[in-house]
Amino acid sequence: NSTLYLLDTDIPENNDAWITGQLYGWFGEERIAQEIVLGIGGVKAMRALGIPIDVYHFNEGHAALAAIELIREKMSGGNTFEEAWKATREEVVFTTHTPIKEGNETHPLDRLEYMSAFNGLTRDQMERIGGEPFNMTIAGLRLSRISNAVAQLHADTANKMWKEVAGRSDIIGITNAIHTPTWVDERMTQAYEENGDLWAVHKEIKGELIDFIKERSGISLNADNLLIGFSRRAAPYKRSDLIFSQPEIIEPYLESGKIQIVFSGKAHPLDDNGKKIVSNLVAMMKKYPKSVVFLENYDMTIGAQLTRGSDIWLNNPRRPLEASGTSGMKAAMNGVLNCSILDGWWPEACIDGENGWQIGDGFETTDFEVLDKHDSDALYDTLLNRVLPTYYENREQWVQMMKKSIETTRTEFATKRMLDEYYNRMYIKA
Ligand SMILES: *Cc1c(COP(=O)(O)O)cnc(C)c1O
Repeated sequence: NSTLYLLDTDIPENNDAWITGQLYGWFGEERIAQEIVLGIGGVKAMRALGIPIDVYHFNEGHAALAAIELIREKMSGGNTFEEAWKATREEVVFTTHTPIKEGNETHPLDRLEYMSAFNGLTRDQMERIGGEPFNMTIAGLRLSRISNAVAQLHADTANKMWKEVAGRSDIIGITNAIHTPTWVDERMTQAYEENGDLWAVHKEIKGELIDFIKERSGISLNADNLLIGFSRRAAPYKRSDLIFSQPEIIEPYLESGKIQIVFSGKAHPLDDNGKKIVSNLVAMMKKYPKSVVFLENYDMTIGAQLTRGSDIWLNNPRRPLEASGTSGMKAAMNGVLNCSILDGWWPEACIDGENGWQIGDGFETTDFEVLDKHDSDALYDTLLNRVLPTYYENREQWVQMMKKSIETTRTEFATKRMLDEYYNRMYIKA
């Protein structure tokens, strides 16, 4: 049975129809209400449908209350709390996504209690599971038999991050992947498989992107010049505007049009720093109107166009804060060369100078001023001394790299590999 069920509270007989009304933006009682619907309601819905369950997979801490319902069920069947917790752990697997401590949701126990999220458990039992305040990720780790992070480097980071948590499951790395039929242009796949002219196909797709940009923004880019794509959520750690951080270095290239950049991305509705980043990108578009474009309303259409038609895909997060970064996989399989900090999935795929480029050397420090300067120097070095000469002076090598990019990523980072791993390493018991 592969039916997908969605839980919706917006029905006439419900006084609290609003609960499933929005995805982001709530952190207090409203958020807990949503998590009760997802977790406790999710288990009850499965029971009502009579669907037998082998494994419960919690994708991120939001679903953790499902295990509280599983414990309650077992206790009402006569088990002690300890027995119920232990048996529940055997049924649950958990995926963690967020390498930023503050991104991992917590709720004060008092608030969970008056929202009825204890679900029959005592305060002490809840505290043993998630602490005070109750941390949804820690709860997920203590309510599961095994957990995973979404790239190998992310697994190292997550294991360090949660080292002090007693009684948690092991965190293994299962690197994310993409659905290739959705994200890879068929013309490129065909050209690759039939040993066709990758450059000709790329030029055609790049031309389509340039038309798309013109339609959306009114800006006409130059199809012969290097086009950098950068689209991702405007979260501060992703540093969308790093490339502008030393204007004296980058400005001549933007003025001459030798480097063109198309950006897209949205900030979280409550993230004022993210909004500042977007407004800075728009200011850069006004300053360099022939070479910098910002496309509004980042969505899958824009994501697909940019990861197909750009020449290079730029990614410069503060390592190790990018858990995976799937847009780079979309680009790589379209022969769009990654130029990226060694973060998320990229350390697993990067053969520097052969299938893309690494920026810097995996340097890490919690002093962001030092890190940002180090990485912006490294970014300029890679871009100006390695990417540009290859693009403008060595087309043959560029095309070789496109080919290598596709070859080294098309199966390794496709959904089948990922699902097989989830199945073999998480869902079935060793
Ligand atoms: C691929 C994609 C993402 C995820 O990309 P990251 O590299 O993880 O930032 C987000 N939003 C859209 C619209 C996408 O297409």
